[in-house]
Amino acid sequence: MNPQDVRLIVVTHGHVDHFDSAAELSRLTGAPIAGHIADLSIYRAGGVSDPYLPIGLFGRLFIRSARVRETTEPFEPDLLIRGETHLSDLGVEARIMPTPGHTAGSASVLTNHGDLVAGDLVASPFLGLGKRPANPPFHDDRLGNLAILREMLALGPTKLHVGHGAPLNPEQVSRWASAEQRRLDRLAVRGRLRTKSEPGA
Ligand SMILES: [Zn+2]
Ligand SMILES: [Zn+2]
Repeated sequence: MNPQDVRLIVVTHGHVDHFDSAAELSRLTGAPIAGHIADLSIYRAGGVSDPYLPIGLFGRLFIRSARVRETTEPFEPDLLIRGETHLSDLGVEARIMPTPGHTAGSASVLTNHGDLVAGDLVASPFLGLGKRPANPPFHDDRLGNLAILREMLALGPTKLHVGHGAPLNPEQVSRWASAEQRRLDRLAVRGRLRTKSEPGA
């Protein structure tokens, strides 16, 4: 495969570790960049300055590191995603699906073969330890992210390719998602679930 064979660069969401090289990759390949409009201000700024909502001990430690404040080269998406977007015009048998929750502008790619490129909807077991899928260190809206993850699973993907760690099989993720739903429902009952749009608690 040559750099010129790349038809489109899909940025899954506005966290720097997921769009760090987008502008440079676009220059090297000549390919346009697609990104969801809800994270547009982050792409234009080259990073995020808003507070993150950490999940668990790792998230609370991570949020104190300078890494989360890093910025990178800004870019302007050539293709602004506002809804489900089929890519057949580009000769790619896939569609981009908005999957908000991790960030408002998170998006995934589902190929016609059932491969789901899922960004940070879910992560592989932390550092390869443990057997179960896991949350990444942050979600802006944990319930929203879980709801859209379960919607994606209902479409019957054959494999989930995640931003952090090895690919996951959907049965494994479905079991984890059911358990996570029960955990979040318990937290919500106790008023201990925050989303980025409603700070406090
Ligand atoms: Zn992320
Ligand atoms: Zn990430």
